[in-house]
Order: sequence, then C-alpha cells, then structure tokens
Amino acid sequence: MKLNKRMTKELIEGIAQVVIASANELTELDRAIGDADHGVNLERGFQAVLKNIEDISALPIGSSLDQVGRTLVMAVGGASGPLYGTLFMAIGKHLGEDETLTRERLLAAFDDAIKAVKARGKSEPGQKTMLDVLVPVLAELRTPGAGVVRRARERALLAAQATIPMVAQRGRASFLGERSVGHMDPGARSTQLIISATCSFVEELS
Ligand code: ADP
Ligand code: MG
Repeated sequence: MKLNKRMTKELIEGIAQVVIASANELTELDRAIGDADHGVNLERGFQAVLKNIEDISALPIGSSLDQVGRTLVMAVGGASGPLYGTLFMAIGKHLGEDETLTRERLLAAFDDAIKAVKARGKSEPGQKTMLDVLVPVLAELRTPGAGVVRRARERALLAAQATIPMVAQRGRASFLGERSVGHMDPGARSTQLIISATCSFVEELS
C-alpha cells in the first residue's frame, strides 16, 4: 500500500487534532505529577505541524513523518520535544524513500522508533512514561490474528491506565517518587491518543 498526499494529510491531521483537543486533559495530568505543561507543549508542537501540513503531506510518507518529528523537536522543547520528535523521525527514517508500506516494514519502523526513544530517554518500560504504551502496543501489533487495529487501540488504552499505579522513574515525575502513584502518566496518555488516531485512520482506509 502507498499513501497519497490526501491520505498522508488525513493521518497527520487526525493525530494533531486529537492531541490538540486533549491538551487541557494532558496538562491536568502533568499538573498532578509534573509541571502542568504537557498539553501546552504538545499543542504548540502539533499546531506548528498543522501550519505546515500542506508542505509536510506533499512529501513521501517517510520524509513527511521525519518532518513531523523535526517540527516537534523545534516547537515542543523540554523533555518531550526530543522524545516525541525521535518517535516520528525514527519511523520516517526507517521508511526512507520506499513508499510501499507493508505490515513488516511498519512493524520494523515502529520497533526502531521505540529503540530510539529508549536511547534518547535512557528509559525502559515500567518507569511510567510513554514507553509503557509504545512497547505493549508493538507486542499487540506483532500478535497474529484478526482485529489487530481494534486490539492495538484497546491495548493502548489499558496500557495508559496501567501507568496509574506505577512509580515514576524518569522525567520530572520521578522527583515525586512514591507520590507519583495514583496518577496516569501524561506522556502515556498522549501516546495512547496518537495511537488511537492512527488506528482510526487505518480503520477508515479499509
Ligand atoms: P517536561 O518533563 O519537560 O515538562 P512534558 O511535560 O511535555 O515534558 O512531557 C512529560 C512526559 O514525557 C512524561 O509524562 C513521560 O511520559 C515523558 N518522558 C519524560 N522523560 C522521559 C524519558 N526519559 N523517557 C521516556 N519518556 C519520558
Ligand atoms: Mg511537563
């Protein structure tokens, strides 16, 4: 399968819109265990993406996702800019010039991106971060069987909720130690929203 400009635009806009629509919720989650800026940060980043959506979506899918990542790094800043930027840039770089999307290539690109986020954040799953959603979703995508998009969406939701009892070990929330327990990680929630928007895009394709 190949994505044309309209499809690429739909995918990226869908992700940007859901994150922007949830900015207040994400900021409130970050207020509980961080510095109350996660929604503000990502909203700024994805507004910058939307501002350039025509140019970004005109590129082949690999370059276009790389460009989304670069825009996020520049516009988001903080800890999350480089992390979310890395996620998109690594997928984009893996896909490269070859515009043909297959299940194998997408899984390999996602795997690469998770490795890049781990390296950038010096983090692993279990530390109450975005990785606690990314890693289980990749496992779900790798599980053979029907309804993979629905399963991935559900797994992302459960995985974000599963960060509530975790003790934060990375980022600002780690300063709270045990007091971070009882709150969902804002990055886990935004990552779940990004995955959910991607699932909606794929569902609408078929
Ligand atoms: P900041 O911490 O600069 O205020 P944000 O509030 O925008 O940045 O983002 C915080 C989110 O970033 C956290 O909820 C967490 O999911 C993610 N995060 C922070 N540090 C790391 C890390 N080292 N590895 C993976 N994810 C991280
Ligand atoms: Mg913050």
